[in-house]
Amino acid sequence: MPELPEVTVIVNQLDKKLRGLILESIEYDWPKKFFWGGFSTRDLKGKRVENVERIGKIVSINISKRLTILIHLKLTGQLIYEYQDKQSLRSSSFDELRTAGLKKTRIAGGHPIPPLNLAVPNKTTRVTFTFTNGGHLYFNDMRKFGWVKIVESEESKIKEAIGAEFGPDPLVMSYREFCERLVKKGQARIKKMLMDQKFVSGIGNIYSDEALWRAKIHPKRSVASLSQAEIRALYDGIRQSLKLAIAKGGSSANAYVDSGGERGLYLSFAKAYHMTGKPCARCKTPIVREKMDGRSAHFCPACQKL
Ligand SMILES: [Zn+2]
Repeated sequence: MPELPEVTVIVNQLDKKLRGLILESIEYDWPKKFFWGGFSTRDLKGKRVENVERIGKIVSINISKRLTILIHLKLTGQLIYEYQDKQSLRSSSFDELRTAGLKKTRIAGGHPIPPLNLAVPNKTTRVTFTFTNGGHLYFNDMRKFGWVKIVESEESKIKEAIGAEFGPDPLVMSYREFCERLVKKGQARIKKMLMDQKFVSGIGNIYSDEALWRAKIHPKRSVASLSQAEIRALYDGIRQSLKLAIAKGGSSANAYVDSGGERGLYLSFAKAYHMTGKPCARCKTPIVREKMDGRSAHFCPACQKL
């Protein structure tokens, strides 16, 4: 599942590429998960992309200040924007045009399966947005858990469309809000709590392991057992691990390809996640893996005591 850093990386890339493009058409074979909200292709055709931003784990494409396209990648969603680089076409001779000119540039991110360098559209393509520059944005989703919603660009409408499903953004949430939300969850295990999207949005198995390692908290500890200092360390640990991963271009346990179509720095930020047997960066004790609530928790048994 793409977590917050992976969504941030693709959103930043799309923002650079889609800004100012004009929508030509939208095709989809996915009526169950495409919510038009009373609008139609006619409302979007000819409209300009203002910007692309992230709201929690949602990709938000803002159209002409009036309408917003919300995309949730869920478990297996991926976004691929493919276009012909006009700059290189202009400078090419005719021969180059036929060869190099037909080469397309690709921005890709999200779930790594099917591989992000596979030809598009393919059998996982659910929605195709076509722009007047000839570029296409493909929303692929192998397991069809993701969705697309068209809403009015008003905070209340956007909140309504995504609100019930998601907790606050961990990079925006204040320390005070974090404490207030934790207090209500006394007996829950802290790792499970962090991964609950209603508690906080965008943290999954990777960044819960990373944040708990930074805060020196065992993943099976109950929320009620945490001291004020540990809660502070956890809040900071969450933000540090997310920011570091974003700076490193995101991650994936599998063959992650970053949004430039190239391999991201493969888990280069990881201190605990998938580091089983490797020495802890603080104390050199080998990192261990334990089953927990159907997932794996990675932690240092010396720094993170139960
Ligand atoms: Zn350690």
